[in-house]
Amino acid sequence: MATQLSEKLEAIYQKILQRNPGETEFHQALREVLESLGPVLVKYPEFADRKIIERIAEPERQIIFRVPWQDDRGEVHINRGFRVQFNSALGPYKGGLRFHPSVYLGIVKFLGFEQIFKNALTGLPIGGGKGGSDFDPKGKSDNEVMRFCQSFMTELWRYVGEYTDVPAGDIGVGGREIGYMFGQFKRLTSRYEAGVLTGKGLDYGGSLVRTEATGYGATFFVDEMLKVRKDSFEGKRCLVSGSGNVAIYTIEKIHQLGGTVVACSDSNGVIVDEKGLDLALVKQLKEVERRRIKDYAGYRKQARYVEGGNIWEIPCQVAMPSATQNEINGKDAALLVKNGCVAVGEGANMPTTPEGIKVFLDARIAYGPGKAANAGGVATSALEMQQNATRDSWTFEYTEKRLGEIMRNIHRVCYETSEEFGAPGNYVVGANVAGFIKVAKAMVGHGLI
Ligand code: GLU
Repeated sequence: MATQLSEKLEAIYQKILQRNPGETEFHQALREVLESLGPVLVKYPEFADRKIIERIAEPERQIIFRVPWQDDRGEVHINRGFRVQFNSALGPYKGGLRFHPSVYLGIVKFLGFEQIFKNALTGLPIGGGKGGSDFDPKGKSDNEVMRFCQSFMTELWRYVGEYTDVPAGDIGVGGREIGYMFGQFKRLTSRYEAGVLTGKGLDYGGSLVRTEATGYGATFFVDEMLKVRKDSFEGKRCLVSGSGNVAIYTIEKIHQLGGTVVACSDSNGVIVDEKGLDLALVKQLKEVERRRIKDYAGYRKQARYVEGGNIWEIPCQVAMPSATQNEINGKDAALLVKNGCVAVGEGANMPTTPEGIKVFLDARIAYGPGKAANAGGVATSALEMQQNATRDSWTFEYTEKRLGEIMRNIHRVCYETSEEFGAPGNYVVGANVAGFIKVAKAMVGHGLI
């Protein structure tokens, strides 16, 4: 199924696999990048001489630690914490923390690996890292989440800082968790170092637009892909999977650009609302009341909830997977194409399996892979770092304008790179190659470290 690698790249891939057994998501993310790199090694033989691929695939540092905490009844729980500091060629490690029961080293490493190239594409000075825990915030009280975050930071504080490593949110980590971790960092270090975390609250150093940025940015990216095809969101029927932060602000921007989102989801099921989702209601349920998306159907007569449903079976013209990894398989992708989908923009990280990607590329629909399409979140984190460094805060309009420019630039670079490397319109090649070359050149410049 997968594309052939050259003999040299296949040997490198096999060796990395052996060194990292069982980390299937990391293997998948790695292979996807390697499949784009054949022509790069021909053009830049120095990258092979300096073993850049082997070095990029080995994190600079990996920290795994115990996170003990007590629930409201006094029972003791032990979780595992991770921070993988993958690559600092372009700047301090930057990337989110994910709190979800599925988190293990393979997930953190796939996310960290993707983050290296995504961050490079933003054009901003940030390296790649990722972290998290197998802690499940679902159903926990505010106090339990606070105690967990405090315990997590009690170990992590030694490894992070404005100039070293700057975590942020990801699945299960939003403004509330960042706030608790920031408070604990401040207490442990006696320093008000705003730039140590991004995604902070607006009243203590956060940036406007950071909350909206991943969803807005992904929608801007799809808008650019549509423009190349002399098309737009106007009148388009869209699907957005998930109902968390990324999904919510993707829906918001699609509606602003004239599209209609008819369905979203959570890990239990799918909500379909043919008239277009009522975003105020989704926000109230998810952001304010922290409820499940199922409850939406109780408030809108024409809406229906499908327990265990598959959102990709619903016909659409634009699909924006914004839930989690591997949520679109080969069959889902084929169904989307058959039902008339013309554009896919990934708000989540690696939401499409290799088989699914092949279907989209073969069908030549506009396919924006996560490391390009969802870079708006981390890009706005870098803008938050800029504001913190200058002790400034920018307006919503100005910050959104900067985000728009960054996303248009990422799109242009990916498109031009895809043309230069003989695969015009293939944003997978464009993103992998452009991101890799930027990091590789910096690594060559730094010498063997
Ligand atoms: N978790 C987000 C991502 O996957 C954002 C990371 C950040 O802002 O540092 O890119």
